[in-house]
Amino acid sequence: KKKIAVMTSGGDSPGMSPAVRAVVRSGIYFGCDMFAVYEGYEGLVRGGDLLKKMEWEDVRGFLSHGGTDIGTARCAEFRERKGRLQGAYNMVVNGIDALVVCGGDGSLTGADLFRSEWPSLIEELVQTGRLTAAEAEPHRHLTIVGLVGSIDNDMAGTDATIGAYSALERISEMVDYIDETANSHSRAFVVEVMGRHCGWLGLMSGLSTGADYIFIPERPPKHGKWQDELKEICSRHRGYGKRNTTVIVAEGAIDDELQPITAETVKDVLVELGLDTRITTLGHVQRGGTAVAYDRMLSTLQGVEAVKAVLESTPDIPSPVIGIAENQIVRQPLVDSVRDTKMVATAIEAKDFDKAMSLRDSTFAE
Ligand code: ATP
Repeated sequence: KKKIAVMTSGGDSPGMSPAVRAVVRSGIYFGCDMFAVYEGYEGLVRGGDLLKKMEWEDVRGFLSHGGTDIGTARCAEFRERKGRLQGAYNMVVNGIDALVVCGGDGSLTGADLFRSEWPSLIEELVQTGRLTAAEAEPHRHLTIVGLVGSIDNDMAGTDATIGAYSALERISEMVDYIDETANSHSRAFVVEVMGRHCGWLGLMSGLSTGADYIFIPERPPKHGKWQDELKEICSRHRGYGKRNTTVIVAEGAIDDELQPITAETVKDVLVELGLDTRITTLGHVQRGGTAVAYDRMLSTLQGVEAVKAVLESTPDIPSPVIGIAENQIVRQPLVDSVRDTKMVATAIEAKDFDKAMSLRDSTFAE
């Protein structure tokens, strides 16, 4: 009987709990023993109570829960080989042969590294006498499957990450609220949104709310010139009779000389224009709350696909990550997805913004 563990790791996102539910229940349906690793990689390294057997009813209600019911964490120890060695040991002594990781690009980079090191970790555990050869033998190969749980929509190989549409919905709703009060007082608002190095939330919330100007890292404005352009555009919109001004700034916004653009610097420019300007940093409301229907559907379909991928895996198939491309649930090698995601960051660092934009998925069209 296959023993599969599921975990959530890195920043939480709406839809992680529904993903855990889907993995646990489809695993049980396919005749597997299912486990949850609590608190992300921390649970793998610590083991003990943080590795729990899961039954059908343990995930009841998870579909409508925000965040993750099995906890998540950032775990410094897992970045070190020693931590991953302990993680491998805890998996083997619990008889777990496969791991489904739902997390962002960092978590999946860690998962990919864990998989590639696995044979040498097992060998080390045998060499140091912590496992006997007989104990190690059934665990010479590790199956890892990735599910992309992140509000940022920053992972290559999938059109949407689990949680991105929920965060987008929340941001749009909040900007609508802000627009009402801005209209009343004829004010300008600078809204800072999450997304770290990815502008998807900034771009899509700008489109969804009709913002006057958007700052995202993949399409940075000209150093020293954007201030005049911002003023010109906002004045023009005011000239059309608009009583509110909304500027959305992604937290990783930069200019084309890679200088950070913050909500504070944008506010100063709008004040120079004579606008009564306030800053709203949306913060963690963007991650909180329950998942929108799209994310519940996405995490459920992908959770089932993750278990199927585990059951069909063989040592010669590279570990997959489950994505959605053109409305189809798809698998692709986790290594490719991790590599392509890194290429975007590299392109931005090299100021090759056209390349960065083209490496983002198709919804990032000009
Ligand atoms: P989010 O996109 O919401 O920030 P994330 O998964 O990218 O989520 P990270 O903090 O980057 O979040 O990673 C989560 C955890 O994954 C880390 O605390 C660490 O335990 C593990 N991890 C990340 N990168 C690596 C790596 N290069 N090697 C090993 N483990 C890693």
